[in-house]
Amino acid sequence: MKNLETIRQLDAADSLAHFRDRFELPDGLIYLDGNSLGVMPKSAPERMKTVVETEWGQHLITSWNRHDWIGLPRRLGAIIAGLVGANPEEVVVADSTSINIFKTLSAALQLNPERSVILSETGNFPTNVYMMQGLSANSGGSVRHQMVPTNDLEAHFNDDVAALLITQAHYKTGYLHDMQAITKAAQEKGIIVIWDLCHSAGALPVDLNACHADMAVGCGYKYLNGGPGAPAFIFVAERHQEKVMPVLSGWLGHARPFDFSDQYEPAPGIDRFKCSSPSILGMSVLECGLEIAAEADMAEVRKKSIALTELFIEQVETRLAGQGFELASPRDPSIRGSQVSFHHENGYPIMQALIDRGVIGDFRDPDILRFGFTPLYTSHEDVWRAAEILQDIMESGVWREPRFSVRSAVT
Ligand SMILES: *Cc1c(COP(=O)(O)O)cnc(C)c1O
Repeated sequence: MKNLETIRQLDAADSLAHFRDRFELPDGLIYLDGNSLGVMPKSAPERMKTVVETEWGQHLITSWNRHDWIGLPRRLGAIIAGLVGANPEEVVVADSTSINIFKTLSAALQLNPERSVILSETGNFPTNVYMMQGLSANSGGSVRHQMVPTNDLEAHFNDDVAALLITQAHYKTGYLHDMQAITKAAQEKGIIVIWDLCHSAGALPVDLNACHADMAVGCGYKYLNGGPGAPAFIFVAERHQEKVMPVLSGWLGHARPFDFSDQYEPAPGIDRFKCSSPSILGMSVLECGLEIAAEADMAEVRKKSIALTELFIEQVETRLAGQGFELASPRDPSIRGSQVSFHHENGYPIMQALIDRGVIGDFRDPDILRFGFTPLYTSHEDVWRAAEILQDIMESGVWREPRFSVRSAVT
């Protein structure tokens, strides 16, 4: 097992270490939950102050032009495009991930009018599953959703399937799909593939166009550090954009919103996938997170992410051997995202005890302790210390205190 001196050498040699200073990290806290809510960029309060006090406060409605608020969804979309291997004309920031999932599913059904099945894997993130269920339940019987186990997916690629909705990195286990291979296999059967990048954008290199991806969605508040409830993004490959007549045909996706015409006419290109007035406060803060991500080399981010997750697994399995922790994430780092999960029958109180000691991860039913690693602000020493504190909690038995078993609304 690596000792603290070795760990500190790794931090000293870390080419991404300087990014840590761009984030607000409370003293004494080890934050391993950036896969749920990213840390605040230090630039965010000042940006918020400017947008609220000057742009909104003083310039009011003139800011739509004066500060180009109206261009914000595309400006941010272009930055995200750079992070996920898309063209700037293929990504727009709008609405939430759930809403964008609905947009892409309904678009894929239009592109495949002869087909009626929308396919995904069992255990996908609940909102993905629920949006599929809502869409099919309200389709008058014309659409059917089908959920199959991950290793059974390809066997279900057939002529009935219009769309495959698939999350690249699984939210519970961190299992990482091969985007290139799945996209190719599904497209060979005429299926439109929708990638959910919630746990990949900003965490690892994504190359949508190299994989010939059809559509994708992702959220702004995880590895992109855009703030709680930050707006989401949607990618639609250029070849598909103008074939889609949006079901959520909001006025800002209109070709000329300020004609105030009675007749909807979709905007050219990716703009038709906008719907409502952009959340300017949310987008302004998201921009702070994106500015930092855009400076980072995603290959370096991935390299460090693998080093951190490998280190955590080694530390936990060595320090806590025989104490009931069972790795729930793939052991092979090439198929693991930027998180590590462990099963433990007392996962909930153990996680609460960890949080009490300043190590923040989270718990996912029924028995998963989940730890996210954001290479831009997590150090090797953080990982080492988190494992040390976990060992202390198990050895002292402090997690058995009744207060740690009280369930909160958000786990
Ligand atoms: C976080 C996450 C979402 C979030 O959806 P919201 O609409 O932002 O609540 C969706 N899908 C996956 C896979 C996620 O991990």
